[in-house]
Formats: sequence, structure tokens, C-alpha cells
Amino acid sequence: MHAHNSILDKIKKEEQFRFSKHTTYGLGGTAKIAYFPKSIEESIAIFDYVKNNYEKFTILGNGSNILVSDKPYDGAVISTKLLNEITYKSGIISCNSGVTVNQLMKFCISHGFSGLEYLAGIPGSIGGLAYMNGGIGDKHIECNISDITIYDGKNRKYTNEECDFRYKHSIMRDIICFILNIDLKVAESNCITVEKNIIQQLALRNHQPIGKSCGCVFKNPKGCSAGQLIEHTGLKGLSYGTAEVSREHANFIINKGSSSADVYNLIQIVKRKVFENCGIMLDEEVIYIGDFNGTYS
Ligand SMILES: Cc1cc2nc3c(=O)[nH]c(=O)nc-3n(C[C@H](O)[C@H](O)[C@H](O)COP(=O)(O)OP(=O)(O)OC[C@H]3O[C@@H](n4cnc5c(N)ncnc54)[C@H](O)[C@@H]3O)c2cc1C
Repeated sequence: MHAHNSILDKIKKEEQFRFSKHTTYGLGGTAKIAYFPKSIEESIAIFDYVKNNYEKFTILGNGSNILVSDKPYDGAVISTKLLNEITYKSGIISCNSGVTVNQLMKFCISHGFSGLEYLAGIPGSIGGLAYMNGGIGDKHIECNISDITIYDGKNRKYTNEECDFRYKHSIMRDIICFILNIDLKVAESNCITVEKNIIQQLALRNHQPIGKSCGCVFKNPKGCSAGQLIEHTGLKGLSYGTAEVSREHANFIINKGSSSADVYNLIQIVKRKVFENCGIMLDEEVIYIGDFNGTYS
């Protein structure tokens, strides 16, 4: 415990933490406190501390797949922003969970490592990607993960198979844990080829809607595209307050103001209308944080 205390003293803290400054939606109320561990040791100490001292807490990656309530968040936040060590050994890139895709792409270019280029342009952290099994098309980060180290009161190492990866799912979604480190398989190539692949991948994303969003709001139901269902229901451009269904990509909801309640309400309206029109109940990919009770009626 004493060892923990001296570690805790060193961890960066921010009082009155504003989620709106740390999410791609640019939305969300304040949390009383946020902690920014910068090493695995600090992460473990703060996870234990927060779990024992707060009723609620949330781990925040790059905030690109979440919608945070406007109401004050009555818990603590652990941000992975400073957890960004990357190393390489024998075909494996080992990254701390806060490493962003952008940082990882730069590392791959400068050392000539290939195999991860499909992730280029996703505005998340590797921890967030592993949690969500994010990716593009039929390539998901599970294709590269060799193993993951998590902490849930004990340090555990999961092999790829043990992570139970499925569409937008990993075992980390079923347990309360801190994803500490992710080992990714890569091939040795050369800097120029890797950079070229990344530039090509980024060009494919050029058509994506402009504006504050969380990317796709809904998961694709089996065998069809959520975006197409929304488009066929005639909802492109539909707005509620300051939130709008993108005209370019119907599965994006754009925030044009400062109200997560508006975005939340529009999500519920889209779900209801698609269900009435197609008989399919869409399921959110976006993760809600905080209290949305009473927001939609
Ligand atoms: C413009 C735009 C385009 C996008 N395009 C894509 C795309 O092509 N493909 C795709 O898959 N996604 C896409 N996304 C969504 C998003 O970027 C991904 O889901 C990403 O993986 C989320 O990572 P994050 O670090 O931002 O996680 P956050 O949004 O911060 O968190 C998401 C969840 O992961 C949990 N989490 C994060 N880190 C940890 C950790 N270390 N330990 C435990 N739990 C953790 C959080 O608690 C939360 O529940 C897009 C988003 C935007 C805004």
C-alpha cells in the first residue's frame, strides 16, 4: 500500500475534467477528477485506487467512440493519453494502450513495418481499438493482435483466442479491466512502401463526413448495412436540435452545437423510424457514458 501511495502522488490529475475537450464529438459534462497515468505501474496503482474510492469510473482512450452525457459525471476518469510507449522485437510491436493510431502509423513508417496500414485514419487509441475490435471492412485489429495484457486486480495476459474477438466485441467489454498493453504482429518491409500504403488508405477515407462525430453510430446488423437502412428510411439530413444525420454517410450523426442530449435523442429517433420502416432494431456501436435517464421520451 505504501508503495502504491508514493506512486499515486506522482500521477498527473485534472480537477473539473471537461469531457468536451477530450472527445471527438466535443460533447459531455465535467467529471470531478481525471487521472493520467504515464506508465504500467501508475496505471495499476490508479486502477486499484479508483476502484476502491469511487462508486463509478471510466477509462478514456481518445474519446472517439463515445457519447458523454451533458450532466456532471459523478465518478473518476482514467485517461490513457500519456500511456504511449511503443517498442519492437522479433515481429511484434508492443504498445501501451494510449498509443494512438496516428503514433503507431508514424512508428511503422519510420521503421518500415507493414501489416497495420488498414488502421490509418481511425482517430482512436490502440486500447480503444482492441476493446472494440475496431477496423475497416473485413480487417479488424484482431488480425494483428498476438496478445493483450490487462489488469483487473491481477495482471493477466490474454492470447488472441482468449480475447474472444467478434464483430465490435472483445472479452474486455465483458469485464471491468484496464487494457495495459497490446502486442501486434507486423512484417518487416521498407519505409517507402509502408508510407505509400498509408497514404493510399488515408485517401480512401477522404469522402468521410466533415464535422464532429463518433464515426459510425450503429453496428451493421447481420447481412446488411446500418447506413443503407437509415438512408432507405429517408433519414439523411434529419435533425434534432443541433444534431444532424449526415447527408454524406447516413450512419454518421454530426454534432453542430453543444448538446449530447440532442445527439442522444436523434439516435433514438433514428432507431425508432428504422424499426417502423424495416422491422430491424439497430444496435449502437457508440458507447454511452454518464446519465441519459429522462433524455428521451
Ligand atoms: C471520424 C471517425 C471515424 C472513425 N472510423 C472508424 C473506423 O473506420 N473503424 C472503426 O473501428 N472505428 C472508427 N471510429 C470509431 C473509433 O475511432 C474507434 O472505435 C476507436 O477504436 C475508439 O478508440 P478510442 O481510443 O477513441 O476509445 P474511446 O472512445 O475513448 O473508448 C471506447 C471504449 O473503449 C474503452 N477503453 C478505451 N481504452 C481502454 C483501456 N485502455 N482499457 C479499458 N477500456 C478502454 C472505453 O472505456 C470505452 O468504453 C471512427 C470515429 C470517428 C470519430
